[in-house]
Amino acid sequence: MTDDSTTTLSLDEVRELARSVLVASGMDERGSAVLADLVQMSERDGPRSHGLRMLPVYAQSFSSGYANPVSSPRVERTAPGVLRGDGDNGYYQIVAAKAREELIEMARENGIAAFTCSNCHHLGALRFDTGPLAEAGLVALGVVNSLSMVVPQGGVRPVFGTNPMSFACPRPGGEPVVWDQASSMVALMDIRLAAAEGHDLPRPAGLDPDGQPTQDPNAILESRSLLPFGEHKGAAIAFLIEVLGAALAGGTLSVDNANREAYGALNIKGGHTLIAIDPARFGNETFGVYVQRICAEIEGNGDARVPGDGRLKNRAAVKADGVRVTADLMAQLRELQ
Ligand code: NDP
Repeated sequence: MTDDSTTTLSLDEVRELARSVLVASGMDERGSAVLADLVQMSERDGPRSHGLRMLPVYAQSFSSGYANPVSSPRVERTAPGVLRGDGDNGYYQIVAAKAREELIEMARENGIAAFTCSNCHHLGALRFDTGPLAEAGLVALGVVNSLSMVVPQGGVRPVFGTNPMSFACPRPGGEPVVWDQASSMVALMDIRLAAAEGHDLPRPAGLDPDGQPTQDPNAILESRSLLPFGEHKGAAIAFLIEVLGAALAGGTLSVDNANREAYGALNIKGGHTLIAIDPARFGNETFGVYVQRICAEIEGNGDARVPGDGRLKNRAAVKADGVRVTADLMAQLRELQ
């Protein structure tokens, strides 16, 4: 029998719960602090699928020996504008936390700088990788490849991961613009949700085991073949991410990322690239005014909104009402503590 009751936690309680579960799972204090922040930010801004629900998955990745809970990542400058990371088989955010200040400094010095990283695991939602650069006044573009699930346009088997990309830039007078999106038409989590709720998807979002487009979520989960967003255009973006992520960083190609021993989103050990640009070095002193103008043209334009601003609404609601956690998840987390 399932328990439908929920517990409401403050964001501080979410962070502390995450930290204690990670420490109990064998992670060191430094790494636990970084991942606990990521869990807290995911519960605050969304997507919640990357928040508390990830904790049992992190714990499993350590107990199975798949990921290193006490990683000692390395970061090395290989050219004036290139910073290279090795995650020591730990989680990406831990390397990124180590690299961020240096990347910002390099972008300010050179106008543009890039960080690539391999030998590391799933980074969660990309928005938390690009957002801090925009808060520092930079424009950021981040990509990561993942586990092959997206079929190229007209193809019959997956080549690309759900390969997300994220863009962020400062917005004078307001929070930075930050958006991130997967290369699949529908997120894997939403397909799982439709299967659990027993209904079809609104449009064909994947292939059935015979290679035919289908709206049936169970058939898509069986084939593990998703369609790209925007047909051939989305497939081309997934290609770009595979090259800028896996190939440039020397990470694992999505087709080779098939460790079925680790479950959930964690059977991913791709390559990451984060590009930081300092607009102040490009000569347009009114860069910020341009951003404001673009946003102003979107706001109040029918139902349109600036991409990524939905997270600000989530943030305000969670700060006011707290985070609701189901009894089942809470029980699972207490057991891991
Ligand atoms: P969505 O399709 O839900 O949203 C994509 C982006 O568009 C978001 O920034 C969203 O921000 C914005 N958006 C949504 N609706 C609108 C609208 N009507 N107008 C303007 N902007 C809108 O995201 P995905 O399902 O594609 O991706 C979900 C998450 O999963 C991302 O955070 C991604 O980074 C992550 N991911 C991670 C992977 C990994 O391997 N690490 C793999 C794949 C995905 P908002 O709603 O806040 O405005």
